[in-house]
Amino acid sequence: MRKMFEHKKQCFGCEACAAACPAGAVSMRRDAEGFAYPVVSESLCTDCGACEEVCPAKQSLSRAPVKAFAVRCTDASLLYQSTSGGAFSLLADAVIAEGGAVCGACFDDAFMVVHRVSSDFAPMRKSKYVQSSLGECYEEMKQVLRSGRRVLFTGTPCQCHAVRLLFGKADGLLIASLVCRGVMSPGFWERYVGWLSQGGGLTSYCFRDKRRNDDAHTVSYTVGGEETVRSFLSDPLTRIYAKCLAFRESCYACPYCVTDKDFDFTIGDFWGVEKVIPDLADGRGTSLVLAGSEEALRMIDRIAENAFVSEVSAEAAMQEALHKPAATNPMLRKLFARDALNPACGMDMVLKKYGC
Ligand SMILES: Cc1cc2nc3c(=O)[nH]c(=O)nc-3n(C[C@H](O)[C@H](O)[C@H](O)COP(=O)(O)OP(=O)(O)OC[C@H]3O[C@@H](n4cnc5c(N)ncnc54)[C@H](O)[C@@H]3O)c2cc1C
Ligand code: SF4
Ligand code: SF4
Ligand code: SF4
Repeated sequence: MRKMFEHKKQCFGCEACAAACPAGAVSMRRDAEGFAYPVVSESLCTDCGACEEVCPAKQSLSRAPVKAFAVRCTDASLLYQSTSGGAFSLLADAVIAEGGAVCGACFDDAFMVVHRVSSDFAPMRKSKYVQSSLGECYEEMKQVLRSGRRVLFTGTPCQCHAVRLLFGKADGLLIASLVCRGVMSPGFWERYVGWLSQGGGLTSYCFRDKRRNDDAHTVSYTVGGEETVRSFLSDPLTRIYAKCLAFRESCYACPYCVTDKDFDFTIGDFWGVEKVIPDLADGRGTSLVLAGSEEALRMIDRIAENAFVSEVSAEAAMQEALHKPAATNPMLRKLFARDALNPACGMDMVLKKYGC
């Protein structure tokens, strides 16, 4: 039987194999930690190899020289609604103005994180630190590109690599990868949402709230009409994320912790901006944008009409997630993996034990 990987760290969960299989032989199934992995049906598989050609874990990513920029949109409301400096919205707006579409991660009605293809990109704003599901998006992007319209794809570097392998450098395709430290388990997040919702329905959740001008190091959510606002330091879920306990196995061996990935853009938080542009150190967020193509540089010029844009050195742009994968205490991670979805361990206990 065809196996897509030997060890779990060799699968990013991007779903490209399922999208590429002409026989419909690949389905994604959650493991005991709540992450989705591909399972190949022996009876349907024709051994054609298409799945391996598009698998980012089996193909290396080309490198390309990049130029680094600090970006902050001038619209204060847009800046507030964005995680960093609003680079995503500026790029999305430019693509939509040309009649294109955007593919990015949203919450669905149950607060699960899913990618969608749409011209309404507002729900895609704000980082959601849970692995998103691509579902039908690869097929939908193919249709949009075939119709001659542009598509801006935004996602984690492994998802972006899958998009590159599926579509190549297709006319009209722009890829904006996030700087990425790691993603949490959708199964654990689902359990957490269920636990939060016990006090009434969860109607809003924001991993990076900006109301305190603290570079969005605040979490906010509304349950049963009552809003909770907490700093990162006092929120157990954020502490579990910060300790890198709930990441997918592949994140601890991530091959994308380099600056010169062959994407049009890499966007992230501009940590350390105070050292290069002190005027931006006001806690309202600045985007780091790495531009890796001629088209990306053309778009930087275009978004500069609605943003502060300043080229910075590669050294100023550097941060941990751009040069080494996340690391954690392996024994603690093992214990967390054992307890996180275990019905015998209440969520209160899990949060107390691992989110302290
Ligand atoms: C899991 C994760 C880890 C990250 N780690 C780092 C890091 O270590 N260092 C750093 O500098 N920046 C990191 N970022 C990126 C940063 O948090 C901001 O998303 C980025 O700076 C864009 O901000 P913005 O103001 O331009 O966009 P916003 O308007 O806030 O847009 C958010 C963008 O993120 C995408 N997105 C949101 N959640 C997900 C998800 N779960 N999966 C895929 N795409 C998603 C949306 O599609 C959208 O394009 C991470 C983001 C995520 C989602
Ligand atoms: S080898 Fe071909 S038929 Fe088999 S799972 Fe891969 S893509 Fe599908
Ligand atoms: S990395 Fe993506 S394409 Fe490769 S096996 Fe995992 S889900 Fe499939
Ligand atoms: S850390 Fe690496 S493997 Fe994990 S989601 Fe991000 S890009 Fe993918």
